[in-house]
Amino acid sequence: MTKKWVYLFDEVGDAEKYAGDWEGVRALLGGKGAGLADMTRAKVPVPPGFTVTTEACNAYRKSGKFPEGQWDQEMSSMKDLEKKTGKQFGDPDKPLFVSCRSGAKFSMPGMMNTVLNIGLNDVTAEGMVKLTSNPRFVYDSYRRLIEMFGTVVMDIDDEAFEQPMAEYKAKKGYKSDTEMTSQDWKSLVVTFKEVFKKETGQDFPQDAYEQLELATEAVFKSWNGKRAVDYRRATGISDDLGTAVNIVTMVFGNMGEDSGTGVAFTRDPSTGEKKMMGDYLLNAQGEDVVAGIRNADPIGNLKKQMPEVYKEFMEITDRLEQHYKEMQDVEFTIEGGKLWMLQTRNGKRTAKAAVKIAVDMVDEGLISKDEAVLRVAPDQVDALLHPQFNSSEKAKAEKSGAFLAKGVNASPGAAVGQIYFDADKAEEMAKNNKQTVIMVRPFTKPDDVHGMIAAQGVLTSEGGATSHAAVVARQFGIPCVVGASAIMIDLDKRTMTVQDKTVKEGEWISVDGTTGEVFLGQIPTTAPTLEEQTELLTLLLWADEICARDGIRKGPKGYPTRGLQVWTNADYPKDAQRARSYGAVGIGLCRTEHMFFEPVRLPIVQKMILSHSSEERTRYLDKLLPYQRSDFDGLFEAMDGCPVIIRLIDPPLHEFMPDEEALLEEVIELRVKGETKGLKEKEDLLAAIRGMHESNPMMGLRGVRLSISLPEIVEMQVRAIFEAAADCTLRGVVVKPEVMIPLTGTVKELEWIQPRLERIAGTVMKEKGVNFDYKFGTMIEIPRAAVTASEVAKLAQFFSFGTNDLTQMTFGYSRDDAERNFLVTYVEQGILPVNPFQVIDRDGVGKLMEMAISEGRKSRPDLEVGICGEHGGDPESIEWCHLIGNNYVSCSPFRVPVARLATAHVALKHSGT
Ligand code: PEP
Ligand code: MG
Repeated sequence: MTKKWVYLFDEVGDAEKYAGDWEGVRALLGGKGAGLADMTRAKVPVPPGFTVTTEACNAYRKSGKFPEGQWDQEMSSMKDLEKKTGKQFGDPDKPLFVSCRSGAKFSMPGMMNTVLNIGLNDVTAEGMVKLTSNPRFVYDSYRRLIEMFGTVVMDIDDEAFEQPMAEYKAKKGYKSDTEMTSQDWKSLVVTFKEVFKKETGQDFPQDAYEQLELATEAVFKSWNGKRAVDYRRATGISDDLGTAVNIVTMVFGNMGEDSGTGVAFTRDPSTGEKKMMGDYLLNAQGEDVVAGIRNADPIGNLKKQMPEVYKEFMEITDRLEQHYKEMQDVEFTIEGGKLWMLQTRNGKRTAKAAVKIAVDMVDEGLISKDEAVLRVAPDQVDALLHPQFNSSEKAKAEKSGAFLAKGVNASPGAAVGQIYFDADKAEEMAKNNKQTVIMVRPFTKPDDVHGMIAAQGVLTSEGGATSHAAVVARQFGIPCVVGASAIMIDLDKRTMTVQDKTVKEGEWISVDGTTGEVFLGQIPTTAPTLEEQTELLTLLLWADEICARDGIRKGPKGYPTRGLQVWTNADYPKDAQRARSYGAVGIGLCRTEHMFFEPVRLPIVQKMILSHSSEERTRYLDKLLPYQRSDFDGLFEAMDGCPVIIRLIDPPLHEFMPDEEALLEEVIELRVKGETKGLKEKEDLLAAIRGMHESNPMMGLRGVRLSISLPEIVEMQVRAIFEAAADCTLRGVVVKPEVMIPLTGTVKELEWIQPRLERIAGTVMKEKGVNFDYKFGTMIEIPRAAVTASEVAKLAQFFSFGTNDLTQMTFGYSRDDAERNFLVTYVEQGILPVNPFQVIDRDGVGKLMEMAISEGRKSRPDLEVGICGEHGGDPESIEWCHLIGNNYVSCSPFRVPVARLATAHVALKHSGT
């Protein structure tokens, strides 16, 4: 038996049996085909049709011809359509027409081909005229077929058709297509057939089946078209999936004033608000609305124009939302007063809308909290914390007359950039010249997408909220304003003009995608606060609940049993406060050395470093102690009740000293001028700095090595930590200090330093008469520490992966230089899949981490493990930390919300494992 390559819409049960599950059906029939079949099953009025599978497309792509049996199955399915509709394909008396539409597993809006009105030819056109008494509609449809078939199937340039049509209209003095009469369209059909013949050397095919066969083939081929490939690159859709082809009975929205067509979202795709959003046009065909060329009516108007149809439409779309439990993006056509649904799919939306819809749907009882959390990607949360215009600066710009125009607020966020008027130029300037770019067009088309992706913002003078520019910008999170009709764009002169203001290509504008406003010049931006985003806060709380669920994780050897916690890297109380308000439940890294750089402290630090004796050093350290104590006091207070990990001094001491070269110049100058005042001090300082010189400071006297050489510094730090903790305890603040020793390579280092420091901790608690829990632990950032972790854990009560250094040391790549020297090439050449300083290298660095945890927990089964390198805020690295059994990840305050969502995602993804 030959393979089944074609499924009628009412054969979805067979497709499910073959494909195994719904995901499989979507892969087999494509999203659109699966949707149409599913709608048919749900008794939604869908025009009869069938789907040629993605498997057929892939077989075609391999062999260059239809697989055996496919065409026969298409022809017999056409017979089925004839039976269902009572019409016949190619028959002038009862003509059947079909559309041929692409549809991959994942939606790629406008990226592949569609041909409408297949089956129209000279004879069936005459038949349709008799049937409908509407020659205007028939010849309009026929010329559309020739044009679409010519451009899509035969690769004729759009221009070849647009030009004679524009000339015809100009000759007649028409401004819009609506002025064209039936006779006009009929003579354009003749012209278009001539164009077709001239461009291809063949006559326009009159055989309906030949039209269908060529159109099917063209859709298969469009999978490898440039714009489809570009889109897949940008969205990470695999090249192997292939597209399905949907053959659907034509229903006509252009059969008169009781016909029409439209697109709608069941919720606002920009804000997520629960209100139908969409546009429709009476007496028009689908692409008129999508292209945004004719100004469409808002969907609400349909209520007045066709109340019955509107009621049915609202009822059906509501049913679709309930069925899919997702916001739907639908296409519909009204033919002679009858409503047909042509497509439904989960609607693309902004990050803001994604969050609101997910949370609202939980409140509506449609989905669970877990589902809601999974519906929002961590990257989308990132987008929500993206910049907006600073309101006072924007007001200033308004006052100064910088306001240019207002259009539709199609995709939120603020963008500032230099304008370019075509996609190629925009891409070039952004990529090669590293400019921030705003792409400006009258309207955009699918082959403009590469320019849009490269741009910070998009501005169009035409089109509406469902136009191509709006949909694509929203999907990629690019701020976008469309339909700013006051703006006159002159593509030849490369300018845009509003009244007396002209902006040239390369000049700056600011675009507010949230309000739809456009300004001249650059307006400073600010990041929105999380506090204002109540739905996001709710979603993040649900994410925390998921991670806190006991049993959500079976870590290695049965521990941990909960998901990851999110802690933060914060050096100052204000950062700690922000991170806490963002949901961090601990400080995973406080880099104490940052505090040494403050202007009043640095001279003391330098004198301390230059001291000749331990006593002298201690004198200066005593001066630093109160500063450090108050730093830590603020941190403990901000993190009341949460653990606070304070890392002892880490960098080499020369980093605190003046620049050697600058100092040498000063010394030389003094010598040349013969000045003696201050010369000796500077010479001594220079000698001291030279004495500290190391060829490889990152591998030199730093971290625990420094502590062992000059223990007085860390002794002061530990005293400051415990005095602050004791003071806080006395004030009623709950402290959980954890002292972290950096750069350990052997347990012997800990054996040397840790007991001294623990003694200080005990002494301070005794002095102050208080008791609280505390820990001493270490960073794991040297491979040897990871390998010998069972020994290290005998002393260390906690581990924290310093993956910046651990990556540096494992690869042997300098973290300061590699990225600018060779790492980019390595990634481009595929030697490395990604930059390992951004995403954990699971095979190397990751293995060491895994080993460190399993070895460490041999000595200390409940060993607390975290990560505080930059990877702590990266979703992929977070997944790895979950799998190997970290207790928490720690990242910068701004990444905390992203990490909270990412930890919940991985907990759900791997739940129970
Ligand atoms: C690390 O090495 O990953 C780390 C957090 O420490 P630092 O970046 O301060 O060296
Ligand atoms: Mg480090």
